Amino acid sequence: MQPKIPRKTALSEMDVMVRQSTEQSARKVSQRTCVACRLGAEKRSLLRFVRDAQGRVSLDESGRAPGRGAYICADVACLEKARRTRALERALRVGLKDEDHARLASEFADVMVRNMVEEQ
Ligand SMILES: [Zn+2]
Repeated sequence: MQPKIPRKTALSEMDVMVRQSTEQSARKVSQRTCVACRLGAEKRSLLRFVRDAQGRVSLDESGRAPGRGAYICADVACLEKARRTRALERALRVGLKDEDHARLASEFADVMVRNMVEEQ
């Protein structure tokens, strides 16, 4: 009989490697990505939208408001795309009316303007 220990060791090492790579990809998924263009926070600056307990969606400037959150690039093109493709609604599992989109767009514009002022 050949000793089976080396083979077992090799297998368990592979096991660990598989587990590690699974954890790494799980972490990648949970990273902040824009729901419209799927680019991550390392490429763009993202704004967080949050759905509160009442089902109301608003722009979360603090980025820490409780509730289900979704990220969109600080870029009007991405906000428009998210509206067109309903990506934000899917991500937050909520239905948005035209007036909600209009309100979010104006909150978004406010933050963009404020950020621009701060950068100067
Ligand atoms: Zn984007």
